Amino acid sequence: TKHFPVRRTGKDLLARRRRTVHAVDDVSLELRRGTVTALVGESGSGKSTVARLLAQLYPLTAGEIRLGGTAVKAGRGRSFRAYVRQVQLIFQDPFASLNPVHTVRYHLTRALRIHGRAGSGATELEANLAALLERVQLTPPGQYLEKFPHELSGGQRQRVAIARALAAGPQVLLADEPVSMLDVSIRLGVLNLLRDLKERLRLAILYITHDIASARYFADTTLVMYAGRIVEGGDSESVTQHPAHPYTQLLIASAPDPGRIAGQEAREETGSGEPPSLIAPPPGCRFHPRCPQAMERCRTELPPRFDLAGGRWAACWLYDTAAAPAKEETK
Ligand code: SF4
Ligand code: MG
Repeated sequence: TKHFPVRRTGKDLLARRRRTVHAVDDVSLELRRGTVTALVGESGSGKSTVARLLAQLYPLTAGEIRLGGTAVKAGRGRSFRAYVRQVQLIFQDPFASLNPVHTVRYHLTRALRIHGRAGSGATELEANLAALLERVQLTPPGQYLEKFPHELSGGQRQRVAIARALAAGPQVLLADEPVSMLDVSIRLGVLNLLRDLKERLRLAILYITHDIASARYFADTTLVMYAGRIVEGGDSESVTQHPAHPYTQLLIASAPDPGRIAGQEAREETGSGEPPSLIAPPPGCRFHPRCPQAMERCRTELPPRFDLAGGRWAACWLYDTAAAPAKEETK
């Protein structure tokens, strides 16, 4: 799928190859149809890398990706072609993702043709184009088809980008900060559209964001990422109301207003200290240099996932029930 930001993606790839950053480590996640899974973290946590790995834009160095139970091999096989059709990526900046010299009609027609879904004949194509625009609530379609990207608002451009992703007939949408560059006033509309698509098309949506308050509003499941690892997961309501991992607690505490809905800009950097370098992450728990509850073992031992009640889990030694009651370290 060579949609567009071929140039940008190419540059990303080169930059990463030169440094060979171990951007994500031991990440395991499952996306279910008809649900939104939020992947929340600061910039540099590796969350966009997860999306790009899932979209097969970066090669996996270990592990595997399954779609409907079938392992997908990178390359040119039929299963790979089916995969790149089924799994569509939506980027943060709809301006960069649409070619400024082409109309909405061009972008959508091209996507339909690439995926063999244009229909036969002009009448069917028109009907398919109209259906796509109606799906993303750009109506009447005739008002948008001949427009160029610069003639649309940011929210309308993102809707066109979503329509283009839908042209492939996907099961999975990977949405990397899909509203963070949009005006606060229209973010909710785009998130509501995605939620509507999740329900009507039974899509599995991965919603990548630095804004944990929007995850609570929009996602069924929330996963929290820190320094290339997922440190907590569970249903969104419970994770955001009763965060278990000290890092999630820090994220919630520094969200501008916990009750706010996709509103005021959340800061990408959170709390005290900087996120660690992924080139040389701290040993033990990667959060230990910033963690107010760090214990001696946190400096050297990597915490595994500990299961909590209600299908939740946290990778934190505080939840190691097998250990003796944790003793505070005395300085
Ligand atoms: Fe803090 Fe230790 Fe838990 Fe890491 S494992 S979050 S350092 S208490
Ligand atoms: Mg990013």
